[in-house]
Amino acid sequence: MKEINFISSDIKSFTLEELTEEVVSLGEKPYRAKQLYQWMHQKLARSYDEMTNLPKAFRETLREHYEYTSLLPVERRVSKIDGTEKYLFGLNDGNVIESVLMRYRFGNSVCISSQVGCRMGCRFCASTIGGLTRNLSPSEMLDQVYSIQRMTGERVSHLVVMGTGEPLDNYDSLLRFLRLLSDENGLNISQRNITVSTCGLVENIRKLAEEKLQITLALSLHASSQEKRKELMPVAYRYELADVLDACRYYFEQTGRRMTFEYSLVGGVNDSQEDAERLAGLLKGMNCHINLIPVNPIRERDFVQSDRQVIEAFKNKLEKYGINVTIRREMGRDIAGACGQLRKGYLSRTKDPAQETSDGSA
Ligand code: SAH
Repeated sequence: MKEINFISSDIKSFTLEELTEEVVSLGEKPYRAKQLYQWMHQKLARSYDEMTNLPKAFRETLREHYEYTSLLPVERRVSKIDGTEKYLFGLNDGNVIESVLMRYRFGNSVCISSQVGCRMGCRFCASTIGGLTRNLSPSEMLDQVYSIQRMTGERVSHLVVMGTGEPLDNYDSLLRFLRLLSDENGLNISQRNITVSTCGLVENIRKLAEEKLQITLALSLHASSQEKRKELMPVAYRYELADVLDACRYYFEQTGRRMTFEYSLVGGVNDSQEDAERLAGLLKGMNCHINLIPVNPIRERDFVQSDRQVIEAFKNKLEKYGINVTIRREMGRDIAGACGQLRKGYLSRTKDPAQETSDGSA
């Protein structure tokens, strides 16, 4: 797997302190670092050329020393139903990623990808089908938010890391991204408005807890027992459900942030009344919230959505046990189908047909 060494050359991934050191080592005054940082993270400049209050010679030096990441918009789809927008962006190395903008009454929320592809293998998820290509750098995660804010001219106030990839499988870059995004000299998005979703990498949940950020952690649970979870999520072979839930309790203890559990309802697989009861038992006594997601069927798998009444009954059962539940509203239904579907569709449209695998999967 190719790692991007963002420390040495990727200028948009530096913290202000690091940038100040760099700028000073280039023989410039420290205040130039703050100007440069604000151009990158507040004014969302697309290149050094836009940084008009920096001396031309200094901009030239920067160009020689550092890479300036930017995303190339490849496709933009706007939902006629709810104004949700899906974006396909090209990275400097030619890979493509997808990001989503959702408009809510409380503000605009962006959903970003954290990796190109994913190696977690969840059975119902389109993003993992081609495996993992590489991690995204902090700047490539930031650029998704920056590009969307620039293209729409509307402020992004909320962020969810729920696009392609397992964020805790790209831990260091994720952390750096979260710090830069919530930095007061950058877009200053409140940590309380940021949610990171994980399939449950236990060590890294614990590590994240100790960072004591004020972000919300969402755990993809999707099953009410270890056995059932293994059927849907291969990561369950690595971690016992009890250990995953312990790590979630630890996250709450350390941060005071209420956990969110995501539960994608798959027709006939994990949506019975017994499942709801077992789930309530698992989460008993925890300060948490459950997000029920009607599974978004993908072409490559034969999973189906649960009937509306089954979803309602599942929710009612949990509520009877005093659990906080919401059914996630589907957004942008008309523009791209399930998570990872836009990118996947793009890849199979643009791929050399001679390289297509025999089963037709990309
Ligand atoms: N790797 C992270 C982020 C993944 S996407 C994680 O596992 O949490 C965010 C959520 O969407 C996860 O809960 C994921 O399991 C779920 N998801 C993925 N594909 C889905 C689909 N086709 N239908 C419903 N939920 C899906």
